[in-house]
Amino acid sequence: MTAHDHVAITIIGAGVVGLAVAREIAGRFHDVLVVEKNESFGRETSSRHSGVIHAGIYYPAGSLKARLCTEGNPLVYEYCRTRNIPHRKTGKLIVAVDEDEGGRLRLLKIQGDENEVPGLAFVSSRELRALEPDVSAREGLFSPATGIIDAHALMRSYLLEAESRGTKIVFYSRISAIRFDGREYEMEINGAYRFRSQVVVNCAGLYSDAVAALAGIDVDGEGYRLRHCKGTYFTAFPAPRISHLVYPVPGEEDVGLGIHATLDLGGRVRFGPDAEYVSELSYDVDEGKRDAFHRAVSRYLPGVKREHLHPDTTGIRPKLQGPGEPFRDFVISVERERGLPGFVNLIGIDSPGLTSSPAIARYVASLVKESMDG
Ligand SMILES: Cc1cc2nc3c(=O)[nH]c(=O)nc-3n(C[C@H](O)[C@H](O)[C@H](O)COP(=O)(O)OP(=O)(O)OC[C@H]3O[C@@H](n4cnc5c(N)ncnc54)[C@H](O)[C@@H]3O)c2cc1C
Repeated sequence: MTAHDHVAITIIGAGVVGLAVAREIAGRFHDVLVVEKNESFGRETSSRHSGVIHAGIYYPAGSLKARLCTEGNPLVYEYCRTRNIPHRKTGKLIVAVDEDEGGRLRLLKIQGDENEVPGLAFVSSRELRALEPDVSAREGLFSPATGIIDAHALMRSYLLEAESRGTKIVFYSRISAIRFDGREYEMEINGAYRFRSQVVVNCAGLYSDAVAALAGIDVDGEGYRLRHCKGTYFTAFPAPRISHLVYPVPGEEDVGLGIHATLDLGGRVRFGPDAEYVSELSYDVDEGKRDAFHRAVSRYLPGVKREHLHPDTTGIRPKLQGPGEPFRDFVISVERERGLPGFVNLIGIDSPGLTSSPAIARYVASLVKESMDG
Protein backbone atom coordinates (compact mmCIF):
# COMPACT_ATOMS: atom_id res chain seq x y z
CA MET A 1 0.00 0.00 0.00
CA THR A 2 1.13 3.57 -0.52
CA ALA A 3 -0.04 6.84 0.96
CA HIS A 4 -2.16 7.21 -2.17
CA ASP A 5 -4.15 4.04 -1.45
CA HIS A 6 -7.56 4.83 -0.11
CA VAL A 7 -10.36 2.88 1.60
CA ALA A 8 -13.75 4.05 2.81
CA ILE A 9 -13.75 2.23 6.16
CA THR A 10 -10.93 0.67 8.19
CA ILE A 11 -11.71 -1.72 11.02
CA ILE A 12 -8.79 -2.23 13.41
CA GLY A 13 -8.83 -5.71 14.96
CA ALA A 14 -10.17 -9.10 13.86
CA GLY A 15 -11.60 -10.36 17.13
CA VAL A 16 -15.25 -11.34 17.38
CA VAL A 17 -16.32 -7.69 17.57
CA GLY A 18 -14.24 -6.41 14.62
CA LEU A 19 -15.42 -9.34 12.50
CA ALA A 20 -19.08 -8.87 13.44
CA VAL A 21 -18.76 -5.19 12.55
CA ALA A 22 -17.01 -6.07 9.27
CA ARG A 23 -19.81 -8.46 8.29
CA GLU A 24 -22.53 -5.96 9.14
CA ILE A 25 -20.83 -3.02 7.44
CA ALA A 26 -19.79 -5.01 4.36
CA GLY A 27 -23.44 -5.57 3.54
CA ARG A 28 -24.10 -1.83 3.57
CA PHE A 29 -20.91 -0.10 2.36
CA HIS A 30 -18.20 -0.84 -0.19
CA ASP A 31 -14.49 -0.66 0.26
CA VAL A 32 -14.01 -2.01 3.80
CA LEU A 33 -10.60 -3.11 5.13
CA VAL A 34 -9.92 -5.10 8.33
CA VAL A 35 -6.39 -4.74 9.71
CA GLU A 36 -5.14 -7.36 12.20
CA LYS A 37 -1.71 -7.49 13.80
CA ASN A 38 -1.67 -11.24 14.46
CA GLU A 39 -1.27 -14.10 11.97
CA SER A 40 -4.98 -14.90 12.00
CA PHE A 41 -8.31 -13.79 13.46
CA GLY A 42 -9.49 -14.23 17.07
CA ARG A 43 -6.12 -14.97 18.65
CA GLU A 44 -6.61 -12.83 21.76
CA THR A 45 -9.60 -12.34 24.09
CA SER A 46 -12.03 -13.79 21.54
CA SER A 47 -10.52 -17.25 22.00
CA ARG A 48 -9.91 -16.96 25.76
CA HIS A 49 -13.35 -16.80 27.32
CA SER A 50 -16.15 -19.01 28.66
CA GLY A 51 -18.00 -19.32 25.36
CA VAL A 52 -21.29 -18.50 27.05
CA ILE A 53 -24.23 -16.88 25.28
CA HIS A 54 -25.30 -14.66 28.15
CA ALA A 55 -28.92 -13.68 28.81
CA GLY A 56 -28.19 -10.18 30.19
CA ILE A 57 -29.04 -10.57 33.89
CA TYR A 58 -26.22 -8.77 35.68
CA TYR A 59 -25.85 -5.35 34.01
CA PRO A 60 -27.54 -2.12 35.17
CA ALA A 61 -30.79 -1.44 33.32
CA GLY A 62 -30.37 1.01 30.48
CA SER A 63 -26.62 0.33 30.10
CA LEU A 64 -25.20 -0.62 26.72
CA LYS A 65 -24.11 -3.93 28.26
CA ALA A 66 -27.72 -4.74 29.24
CA ARG A 67 -29.23 -3.53 25.97
CA LEU A 68 -26.69 -5.04 23.57
CA CYS A 69 -26.55 -8.36 25.46
CA THR A 70 -30.32 -8.89 25.55
CA GLU A 71 -30.52 -7.82 21.90
CA GLY A 72 -27.48 -9.94 20.95
CA ASN A 73 -28.66 -13.14 22.68
CA PRO A 74 -31.49 -14.03 20.26
CA LEU A 75 -29.49 -12.69 17.30
CA VAL A 76 -26.63 -15.09 18.12
CA TYR A 77 -29.01 -18.07 18.38
CA GLU A 78 -30.68 -17.16 15.10
CA TYR A 79 -27.32 -16.66 13.38
CA CYS A 80 -26.05 -20.03 14.66
CA ARG A 81 -29.25 -21.83 13.66
CA THR A 82 -29.24 -20.52 10.11
CA ARG A 83 -25.50 -21.17 9.55
CA ASN A 84 -25.15 -24.49 11.38
CA ILE A 85 -22.74 -23.03 13.92
CA PRO A 86 -22.36 -25.41 16.88
CA HIS A 87 -24.17 -24.09 19.94
CA ARG A 88 -26.51 -25.34 22.66
CA LYS A 89 -29.14 -23.58 24.73
CA THR A 90 -28.14 -25.34 27.96
CA GLY A 91 -29.86 -22.97 30.37
CA LYS A 92 -28.11 -21.74 33.48
CA LEU A 93 -28.67 -22.00 37.22
CA ILE A 94 -27.45 -19.35 39.63
CA VAL A 95 -27.40 -21.05 43.01
CA ALA A 96 -27.54 -19.61 46.53
CA VAL A 97 -26.02 -21.65 49.35
CA ASP A 98 -27.03 -19.45 52.29
CA GLU A 99 -29.60 -16.86 53.31
CA ASP A 100 -27.39 -13.96 52.45
CA GLU A 101 -26.90 -15.24 48.91
CA GLY A 102 -30.64 -15.92 48.72
CA GLY A 103 -31.22 -12.20 49.31
CA ARG A 104 -28.78 -11.23 46.57
CA LEU A 105 -30.37 -13.81 44.24
CA ARG A 106 -33.67 -11.96 44.61
CA LEU A 107 -31.95 -8.71 43.61
CA LEU A 108 -30.50 -10.44 40.55
CA LYS A 109 -33.98 -11.58 39.53
CA ILE A 110 -35.22 -7.98 39.82
CA GLN A 111 -32.26 -6.78 37.74
CA GLY A 112 -32.83 -9.49 35.11
CA ASP A 113 -36.54 -8.70 34.90
CA GLU A 114 -35.77 -5.01 34.49
CA ASN A 115 -33.46 -5.93 31.62
CA GLU A 116 -36.31 -8.02 30.15
CA VAL A 117 -34.35 -11.26 30.28
CA PRO A 118 -36.87 -13.93 29.23
CA GLY A 119 -38.09 -16.75 31.45
CA LEU A 120 -36.15 -16.18 34.69
CA ALA A 121 -37.64 -18.39 37.41
CA PHE A 122 -36.76 -19.33 40.97
CA VAL A 123 -36.25 -23.03 41.70
CA SER A 124 -36.48 -24.61 45.15
CA SER A 125 -33.79 -26.88 46.59
CA ARG A 126 -35.96 -29.90 45.68
CA GLU A 127 -36.36 -28.76 42.06
CA LEU A 128 -32.66 -28.00 41.98
CA ARG A 129 -31.84 -31.55 43.11
CA ALA A 130 -34.02 -32.94 40.31
CA LEU A 131 -32.30 -30.71 37.73
CA GLU A 132 -28.74 -31.13 39.04
CA PRO A 133 -28.34 -33.97 41.57
CA ASP A 134 -24.66 -33.13 42.24
CA VAL A 135 -25.36 -29.49 43.13
CA SER A 136 -26.00 -28.60 46.75
CA ALA A 137 -27.78 -25.27 47.36
CA ARG A 138 -30.85 -23.91 49.12
CA GLU A 139 -32.38 -22.31 46.01
CA GLY A 140 -31.60 -21.20 42.51
CA LEU A 141 -32.54 -18.90 39.66
CA PHE A 142 -33.01 -20.57 36.28
CA SER A 143 -32.18 -18.70 33.08
CA PRO A 144 -33.44 -20.65 30.06
CA ALA A 145 -31.95 -18.22 27.47
CA THR A 146 -28.31 -18.86 28.47
CA GLY A 147 -26.27 -21.23 26.33
CA ILE A 148 -22.87 -22.06 24.85
CA ILE A 149 -21.30 -21.52 21.45
CA ASP A 150 -18.32 -22.49 19.31
CA ALA A 151 -16.92 -18.95 19.15
CA HIS A 152 -14.27 -19.88 16.59
CA ALA A 153 -16.94 -21.11 14.16
CA LEU A 154 -18.91 -17.89 14.78
CA MET A 155 -15.87 -15.75 13.97
CA ARG A 156 -15.02 -17.80 10.87
CA SER A 157 -18.56 -17.34 9.61
CA TYR A 158 -18.52 -13.57 10.24
CA LEU A 159 -15.20 -13.39 8.37
CA LEU A 160 -16.35 -15.47 5.38
CA GLU A 161 -19.55 -13.45 5.02
CA ALA A 162 -17.64 -10.17 5.24
CA GLU A 163 -15.15 -11.39 2.62
CA SER A 164 -17.89 -12.65 0.33
CA ARG A 165 -19.34 -9.13 0.41
CA GLY A 166 -16.04 -7.65 -0.70
CA THR A 167 -14.29 -6.84 2.59
CA LYS A 168 -10.52 -7.26 2.53
CA ILE A 169 -8.56 -8.44 5.55
CA VAL A 170 -4.83 -8.16 6.11
CA PHE A 171 -2.94 -10.07 8.82
CA TYR A 172 0.52 -9.41 10.31
CA SER A 173 -0.48 -5.74 10.05
CA ARG A 174 -0.28 -3.58 13.15
CA ILE A 175 -1.68 -0.08 12.97
CA SER A 176 1.30 1.97 14.16
CA ALA A 177 0.18 5.55 13.51
CA ILE A 178 -3.03 7.45 12.80
CA ARG A 179 -3.16 11.09 11.72
CA PHE A 180 -6.29 13.11 10.95
CA ASP A 181 -5.68 15.76 8.29
CA GLY A 182 -9.01 17.51 8.82
CA ARG A 183 -10.72 15.44 6.14
CA GLU A 184 -9.43 11.87 6.29
CA TYR A 185 -7.25 9.57 8.36
CA GLU A 186 -3.73 8.76 7.30
CA MET A 187 -3.06 5.27 8.60
CA GLU A 188 0.28 3.56 8.98
CA ILE A 189 0.88 -0.22 9.16
CA ASN A 190 3.98 -1.74 10.79
CA GLY A 191 5.75 1.63 10.75
CA ALA A 192 6.05 1.36 6.98
CA TYR A 193 2.98 1.29 4.76
CA ARG A 194 0.55 4.19 4.56
CA PHE A 195 -2.99 4.53 3.27
CA ARG A 196 -5.94 6.84 3.79
CA SER A 197 -9.34 6.05 5.25
CA GLN A 198 -12.52 8.08 5.51
CA VAL A 199 -13.87 6.24 8.56
CA VAL A 200 -11.95 4.26 11.23
CA VAL A 201 -13.49 1.76 13.66
CA ASN A 202 -11.27 0.88 16.62
CA CYS A 203 -12.02 -2.74 17.67
CA ALA A 204 -8.53 -3.38 19.07
CA GLY A 205 -9.64 -5.12 22.29
CA LEU A 206 -6.88 -5.02 24.91
CA TYR A 207 -5.10 -2.34 22.87
CA SER A 208 -8.11 -0.18 22.04
CA ASP A 209 -6.96 2.53 24.46
CA ALA A 210 -3.52 2.52 22.82
CA VAL A 211 -5.11 2.84 19.37
CA ALA A 212 -7.27 5.73 20.61
CA ALA A 213 -4.07 7.37 21.88
CA LEU A 214 -2.48 6.94 18.42
CA ALA A 215 -5.32 9.04 17.03
CA GLY A 216 -4.46 11.77 19.54
CA ILE A 217 -7.02 11.10 22.27
CA ASP A 218 -5.95 11.79 25.86
CA VAL A 219 -7.00 8.38 27.23
CA ASP A 220 -6.49 9.31 30.88
CA GLY A 221 -8.38 12.56 30.52
CA GLU A 222 -11.29 10.85 28.77
CA GLY A 223 -11.42 7.88 31.17
CA TYR A 224 -10.46 5.45 28.37
CA ARG A 225 -7.40 3.87 30.07
CA LEU A 226 -7.88 0.09 30.21
CA ARG A 227 -7.16 -2.05 33.26
CA HIS A 228 -6.28 -5.67 32.63
CA CYS A 229 -8.23 -8.17 34.67
CA LYS A 230 -7.08 -11.75 34.27
CA GLY A 231 -9.38 -14.74 34.53
CA THR A 232 -8.02 -18.24 35.15
CA TYR A 233 -9.79 -21.54 34.43
CA PHE A 234 -9.32 -25.02 35.86
CA THR A 235 -10.74 -28.13 34.17
CA ALA A 236 -12.45 -30.79 36.26
CA PHE A 237 -11.47 -34.40 35.77
CA PRO A 238 -13.31 -36.52 36.63
CA ALA A 239 -16.01 -34.02 35.74
CA PRO A 240 -19.06 -33.51 37.93
CA ARG A 241 -22.30 -34.55 36.24
CA ILE A 242 -23.99 -31.29 35.30
CA SER A 243 -26.21 -30.52 32.35
CA HIS A 244 -26.67 -26.76 32.92
CA LEU A 245 -24.16 -24.02 33.50
CA VAL A 246 -23.94 -23.51 37.26
CA TYR A 247 -23.01 -20.12 38.74
CA PRO A 248 -22.71 -18.97 42.34
CA VAL A 249 -24.32 -15.68 43.39
CA PRO A 250 -21.60 -13.07 42.88
CA GLY A 251 -20.33 -11.39 46.06
CA GLU A 252 -20.96 -7.65 46.38
CA GLU A 253 -17.27 -6.92 45.84
CA ASP A 254 -16.81 -9.39 42.97
CA VAL A 255 -15.46 -7.99 39.70
CA GLY A 256 -16.47 -11.16 37.81
CA LEU A 257 -19.48 -13.43 38.13
CA GLY A 258 -17.93 -15.72 40.75
CA ILE A 259 -16.08 -18.97 39.94
CA HIS A 260 -18.68 -20.91 37.99
CA ALA A 261 -18.99 -24.23 36.18
CA THR A 262 -19.30 -24.05 32.42
CA LEU A 263 -19.72 -26.79 29.87
CA ASP A 264 -18.23 -26.77 26.43
CA LEU A 265 -19.80 -28.39 23.39
CA GLY A 266 -17.67 -31.50 23.94
CA GLY A 267 -19.18 -31.93 27.44
CA ARG A 268 -16.01 -30.83 29.24
CA VAL A 269 -16.57 -28.99 32.55
CA ARG A 270 -14.42 -25.96 33.32
CA PHE A 271 -14.37 -23.79 36.43
CA GLY A 272 -13.67 -20.08 36.34
CA PRO A 273 -12.83 -17.46 35.47
CA ASP A 274 -11.67 -15.77 38.66
CA ALA A 275 -10.76 -12.08 38.47
CA GLU A 276 -7.34 -10.62 39.21
CA TYR A 277 -6.05 -7.23 38.12
CA VAL A 278 -2.61 -7.63 36.51
CA SER A 279 0.04 -5.23 35.25
CA GLU A 280 1.46 -7.63 32.67
CA LEU A 281 -0.27 -9.30 29.71
CA SER A 282 0.75 -12.91 30.41
CA TYR A 283 -1.49 -15.92 29.83
CA ASP A 284 0.39 -18.20 32.25
CA VAL A 285 -1.76 -20.23 34.64
CA ASP A 286 -0.97 -19.86 38.34
CA GLU A 287 -1.41 -23.41 39.67
CA GLY A 288 -1.26 -22.00 43.19
CA LYS A 289 -4.88 -20.97 42.73
CA ARG A 290 -6.08 -24.59 43.00
CA ASP A 291 -7.00 -24.28 46.70
CA ALA A 292 -8.99 -21.08 46.18
CA PHE A 293 -10.80 -22.67 43.24
CA HIS A 294 -11.55 -25.78 45.27
CA ARG A 295 -12.94 -23.71 48.16
CA ALA A 296 -15.18 -21.73 45.78
CA VAL A 297 -16.47 -24.67 43.76
CA SER A 298 -17.01 -27.16 46.60
CA ARG A 299 -19.51 -24.76 48.21
CA TYR A 300 -22.07 -25.73 45.53
CA LEU A 301 -20.51 -28.90 44.05
CA PRO A 302 -19.31 -30.72 47.19
CA GLY A 303 -18.29 -33.83 45.23
CA VAL A 304 -15.47 -31.97 43.47
CA LYS A 305 -12.17 -32.77 45.15
CA ARG A 306 -9.04 -30.66 45.06
CA GLU A 307 -7.21 -33.31 43.00
CA HIS A 308 -9.95 -33.21 40.36
CA LEU A 309 -8.88 -29.69 39.36
CA HIS A 310 -6.33 -29.25 36.58
CA PRO A 311 -4.91 -25.96 35.29
CA ASP A 312 -6.57 -24.91 32.03
CA THR A 313 -6.39 -21.56 30.22
CA THR A 314 -6.56 -17.86 31.07
CA GLY A 315 -8.06 -14.80 29.43
CA ILE A 316 -7.65 -11.10 30.06
CA ARG A 317 -10.58 -8.70 30.33
CA PRO A 318 -10.10 -5.19 28.91
CA LYS A 319 -11.82 -3.35 31.79
CA LEU A 320 -12.46 0.34 32.18
CA GLN A 321 -13.00 0.15 35.93
CA GLY A 322 -10.04 -0.45 38.20
CA PRO A 323 -10.10 -2.46 41.46
CA GLY A 324 -12.91 -1.37 43.77
CA GLU A 325 -14.34 1.09 41.25
CA PRO A 326 -18.01 1.10 40.26
CA PHE A 327 -19.49 -0.42 37.09
CA ARG A 328 -18.26 0.94 33.77
CA ASP A 329 -20.19 0.42 30.57
CA PHE A 330 -18.90 -0.36 27.05
CA VAL A 331 -17.63 2.79 25.34
CA ILE A 332 -18.96 2.89 21.77
CA SER A 333 -18.57 6.41 20.52
CA VAL A 334 -17.95 8.51 17.41
CA GLU A 335 -15.28 10.96 18.54
CA ARG A 336 -16.64 14.00 16.72
CA GLU A 337 -16.55 16.13 19.87
CA ARG A 338 -12.89 15.22 20.35
CA GLY A 339 -12.09 16.58 16.90
CA LEU A 340 -12.17 13.18 15.21
CA PRO A 341 -15.30 12.88 13.03
CA GLY A 342 -15.67 9.40 11.56
CA PHE A 343 -13.47 7.81 14.25
CA VAL A 344 -15.51 5.19 16.13
CA ASN A 345 -14.02 3.95 19.39
CA LEU A 346 -15.00 0.64 21.00
CA ILE A 347 -13.23 0.50 24.36
CA GLY A 348 -13.74 -1.73 27.39
CA ILE A 349 -15.53 -4.48 25.45
CA ASP A 350 -15.23 -7.13 28.14
CA SER A 351 -18.02 -9.60 28.93
CA PRO A 352 -20.67 -9.87 27.44
CA GLY A 353 -18.86 -8.81 24.24
CA LEU A 354 -19.12 -12.19 22.52
CA THR A 355 -22.88 -12.42 23.06
CA SER A 356 -23.40 -8.78 22.18
CA SER A 357 -21.31 -8.94 18.98
CA PRO A 358 -24.18 -8.91 16.44
CA ALA A 359 -25.97 -6.12 18.33
CA ILE A 360 -22.75 -4.10 18.72
CA ALA A 361 -22.25 -4.53 14.97
CA ARG A 362 -25.69 -3.12 14.16
CA TYR A 363 -25.14 -0.19 16.49
CA VAL A 364 -21.70 0.57 15.03
CA ALA A 365 -23.10 0.30 11.48
CA SER A 366 -25.62 3.03 12.34
CA LEU A 367 -22.81 5.24 13.69
CA VAL A 368 -20.73 4.59 10.57
CA LYS A 369 -23.69 5.48 8.36
CA GLU A 370 -24.07 8.82 10.17
CA SER A 371 -20.35 9.45 9.68
CA MET A 372 -20.43 8.53 5.98
CA ASP A 373 -23.47 10.76 5.43
CA GLY A 374 -21.43 13.54 7.02
C1 LIG B 1 -12.04 -14.60 30.95
C2 LIG B 1 -13.09 -14.06 30.01
C3 LIG B 1 -14.33 -14.71 29.89
C4 LIG B 1 -15.31 -14.20 29.04
N1 LIG B 1 -16.48 -14.89 28.87
C5 LIG B 1 -17.42 -14.43 28.01
C6 LIG B 1 -18.61 -15.17 27.80
O1 LIG B 1 -18.77 -16.27 28.29
N2 LIG B 1 -19.58 -14.62 27.00
C7 LIG B 1 -19.42 -13.40 26.42
O2 LIG B 1 -20.36 -12.92 25.77
N3 LIG B 1 -18.26 -12.70 26.57
C8 LIG B 1 -17.25 -13.20 27.33
N4 LIG B 1 -16.08 -12.52 27.48
C9 LIG B 1 -15.89 -11.27 26.73
C10 LIG B 1 -15.49 -11.53 25.29
O3 LIG B 1 -14.53 -12.55 25.19
C11 LIG B 1 -14.92 -10.22 24.70
O4 LIG B 1 -15.85 -9.19 24.92
C12 LIG B 1 -14.68 -10.32 23.20
O5 LIG B 1 -13.93 -11.45 22.87
C13 LIG B 1 -13.97 -9.05 22.75
O6 LIG B 1 -13.73 -9.15 21.38
P1 LIG B 1 -12.92 -8.01 20.64
O7 LIG B 1 -13.02 -8.31 19.19
O8 LIG B 1 -13.40 -6.67 21.12
O9 LIG B 1 -11.42 -8.11 21.19
P2 LIG B 1 -10.23 -9.13 20.83
O10 LIG B 1 -10.68 -10.51 20.70
O11 LIG B 1 -9.16 -8.83 21.83
O12 LIG B 1 -9.74 -8.64 19.40
C14 LIG B 1 -9.03 -7.44 19.21
C15 LIG B 1 -8.10 -7.64 18.04
O13 LIG B 1 -7.45 -6.41 17.76
C16 LIG B 1 -6.14 -6.69 17.34
N5 LIG B 1 -5.31 -5.48 17.49
C17 LIG B 1 -5.01 -4.83 18.65
N6 LIG B 1 -4.24 -3.75 18.40
C18 LIG B 1 -4.06 -3.70 17.06
C19 LIG B 1 -3.34 -2.82 16.19
N7 LIG B 1 -2.66 -1.74 16.66
N8 LIG B 1 -3.35 -3.08 14.85
C20 LIG B 1 -4.02 -4.17 14.35
N9 LIG B 1 -4.71 -5.02 15.13
C21 LIG B 1 -4.74 -4.80 16.47
C22 LIG B 1 -5.71 -7.82 18.27
O14 LIG B 1 -4.60 -8.53 17.73
C23 LIG B 1 -6.99 -8.65 18.34
O15 LIG B 1 -7.03 -9.69 17.40
C24 LIG B 1 -15.06 -13.01 28.30
C25 LIG B 1 -13.81 -12.37 28.40
C26 LIG B 1 -12.82 -12.91 29.22
C27 LIG B 1 -11.47 -12.26 29.28
